[in-house]
Amino acid sequence: MSRVAVLGCGVAGTVVANRLVRARRRVEVTVIDGHGDHIYQAGLIDVAFGVRTSESLRRDARPLLDPLVRLVVDKVEGIDPAARRIDLASGARLEYDVAVIATGSRNDRGGIEGISEGSRTFHCPRQADELARELAAFGGGRIVVGATRLPYRCPPSPVEFALRLDAKLRGAGRPNGSRITYVYPIEQLQPNPAIGGWARALLVERGIEIRAPFQIERIEPGAKRLVSSTGEELPFDLAVLVPPHRGASFLDSSGLAAGNGWVKADPRTLRAGDGLYCLGDAADLPASKSGAAARYQAAAVAANVLAEIEGRTPSPDYAGRAT
Ligand SMILES: Cc1cc2nc3c(=O)[nH]c(=O)nc-3n(C[C@H](O)[C@H](O)[C@H](O)COP(=O)(O)OP(=O)(O)OC[C@H]3O[C@@H](n4cnc5c(N)ncnc54)[C@H](O)[C@@H]3O)c2cc1C
Repeated sequence: MSRVAVLGCGVAGTVVANRLVRARRRVEVTVIDGHGDHIYQAGLIDVAFGVRTSESLRRDARPLLDPLVRLVVDKVEGIDPAARRIDLASGARLEYDVAVIATGSRNDRGGIEGISEGSRTFHCPRQADELARELAAFGGGRIVVGATRLPYRCPPSPVEFALRLDAKLRGAGRPNGSRITYVYPIEQLQPNPAIGGWARALLVERGIEIRAPFQIERIEPGAKRLVSSTGEELPFDLAVLVPPHRGASFLDSSGLAAGNGWVKADPRTLRAGDGLYCLGDAADLPASKSGAAARYQAAAVAANVLAEIEGRTPSPDYAGRAT
């Protein structure tokens, strides 16, 4: 029986694990997740607009996993690919034949001076709840919406947020001349040029001011001002920003992450080393960090893990598909 360890039970880890056991081969699948919950992150924008609470997005991961998958609720603290061993926060150790890294991404709010005190985000359940309260009480003025650094989860999410905010402000009769300014670290308003062009046309049509490229160097919470890397200043009444993202910290300490915090994987096979695969947000791939991309990557990873344990060559079949 081959032992496959899947690290993380978000979109990527759940789909890989279920596909592996449903293939009915001689494989024993263990999923390790820090909290054992599955969070539907796409709902966080609804949370920020008070349509639902962040708690409603949280589900017990167990019923989402096939009964043949073993779930271990523990935090991965290290992985040693040479010894094919995983160290867990509880002190337990897990040996594997193939490991699949699917630990997603995390907000790195330490990455920009003043970001925690000076801005809000909808990219975190607790903060999205707070933002809903703040938006409900917003008295008027300029709301800056945008992203700080690339890459981050769900590239269109700041455009989606800006358009929904515009609709909300229009519906409320634009309290005290409220207006929106969209900031983005690169000139094209999305990593994908086609979506960037589409987004620009929509924002212009709605009268949303655009400042791009605007690479935020620091936020001055007292003065309520963003300062760019070229010294441009942008005052705000409320700043709603996607913070910088990084991979899980054990990837840095295990030497698996490139300097940017993400794991380099072959873009076609998603293989990240001997007996190692990486997919979803955790991977450094020329694909969006999205649940949709993770789901297509999961199909390719499951097929390649099965190939590997059966002594076949992994197929270079993943072609970057997302939605
Ligand atoms: C506001 C917002 C809107 C979005 N909208 C969309 C959308 O409309 N469409 C879309 O396709 N995508 C959307 N996404 C992106 C999507 O949610 C992510 O890309 C997707 O969840 C990535 O899947 P993943 O499995 O790689 O990571 P995740 O789903 O984040 O799962 C990672 C898992 O790993 C676990 N983990 C992390 N570190 C450790 C550790 N050290 N030890 C053990 N476990 C660990 C975590 O607990 C978590 O369960 C959105 C994201 C946000 C924030």
